[in-house]
Amino acid sequence: MNGMTPGWRAARWKHAGVALFTAMAMLACAGHEDAAAPQASDADTIAFVDVDVLPMDRDAVLSAQTVLVRDGRIVSMGPSADVDVPTGAQRIDGRGKVLMPGLAEMHGHVPGGDDPQYVEDVLFLYIANGVTFVRNMAGNESHLALRDRLAQGELDGPTMVAASPWLGARDEAEINATLQAHHAAGYDLAKLGSVPADLYPGMARTAHALGIPFAGHIPEGVALETALDARQASIDHFDRYVEFLVPGDAAARSRSAGFFGSGWVDAVDAARIPEAVQRTIDAGTWNVPTLSLVEHLASPETAADMIAWPEMRYMPQSVLDGWVRAKGEFGAREDFQPAAAQRLVEVRRQLLKALHDRGAPIALGSDAPQFFNVPGFSIHHEMRMMVAAGMTPYEVLATGTTAPARYMQTPGEFGVVAPGARADLVLLDADPRQDIGHFKAQAGVMVRGRWWPADRIRARLETIAARRAETAADG
Ligand SMILES: [Zn+2]
Repeated sequence: MNGMTPGWRAARWKHAGVALFTAMAMLACAGHEDAAAPQASDADTIAFVDVDVLPMDRDAVLSAQTVLVRDGRIVSMGPSADVDVPTGAQRIDGRGKVLMPGLAEMHGHVPGGDDPQYVEDVLFLYIANGVTFVRNMAGNESHLALRDRLAQGELDGPTMVAASPWLGARDEAEINATLQAHHAAGYDLAKLGSVPADLYPGMARTAHALGIPFAGHIPEGVALETALDARQASIDHFDRYVEFLVPGDAAARSRSAGFFGSGWVDAVDAARIPEAVQRTIDAGTWNVPTLSLVEHLASPETAADMIAWPEMRYMPQSVLDGWVRAKGEFGAREDFQPAAAQRLVEVRRQLLKALHDRGAPIALGSDAPQFFNVPGFSIHHEMRMMVAAGMTPYEVLATGTTAPARYMQTPGEFGVVAPGARADLVLLDADPRQDIGHFKAQAGVMVRGRWWPADRIRARLETIAARRAETAADG
């Protein structure tokens, strides 16, 4: 798949341009004897001192390191004894803490532009949880400008990939015109959508010819094999896998497949999993499991208990009401009665484990803000569920760091703690490889070199909660 689109490249070149300009300015200054002015490089440097580093390019913690950050990039890293911290640099005491890359939410949603304050609040919810990269899975024109402003550091928020609006069409001419328009507008990928099954292969050919990846759902009536043959960039939510696992002659096929296959799940033949895995590997298609999308609806926990979770205070009341309603509606569906719902959860976990163990590419994504998934906060639920599926915490963290950088075809650009990488970092109180829950205990988050200590994050979260409470009282 091709994750590099013109917009993405442009954003990266702009950044390189800034770094080059800074380097030239420093060279120009070097000949002056302007002792009064502090060297720009010193004051602009942030140093994590004596910190244990979980670099994520290997399953190991490097102890007592010093990591220097300048102009939004990691510029140096090594044993504290070997790395000089420039005078005037901001020092962050890392003793007893673990520094690792921020995570990517590879199936997130950032609201459209009609309420800029709400957009900023949601972007901050991601940052506040150590999510420093979001693949925004369905957007509008406002997201193109938002993506570029984020890349330039004009707004506090994760680096964002902008998917097109939900792709739907009635005929081939319309679908080709829409894809061309999305590509010309600069969207990074086409979000699938309600593409009629007979138009799907032609849509795929057009998208490949244009060089715009397509990802998300597998449209209704399109089989898993067809999407894999068409080299869909990512399949999200394990769409159509349950249908593939049900043998062709199963009686269940006369019923509706239901919600992600819930209507057929009793007829799943687990012996078909290896074939599904092999086909996925052969296609090179990524999966973004979004386990929490199904598990939050299937869990025995009541909706009332779920909207009492602490993070719910950052969401508008109308969204919470929608989630409560959805849980009630799913609980009433014939194809989602407890046994089927639980079987669906089990099959999806089994599939994740099998795909991962065989080396199929997996990227972390929860689908926020769907079904009790508060942006940023939902990544903790998703990771806990992936561990419950049998992956180690380190393997889960890799799906949110090095794997998304590979998906973007920019390995080393982010998702690692190493010189040259973007300074998207999380400082933790304990090693998350011991317990994935440790990812929650953050001493601070750095986004593109901008440092957010925990107390400033808490303060801004309080402001957001107060705004939500105010709106609820007004409404
Ligand atoms: Zn979604």
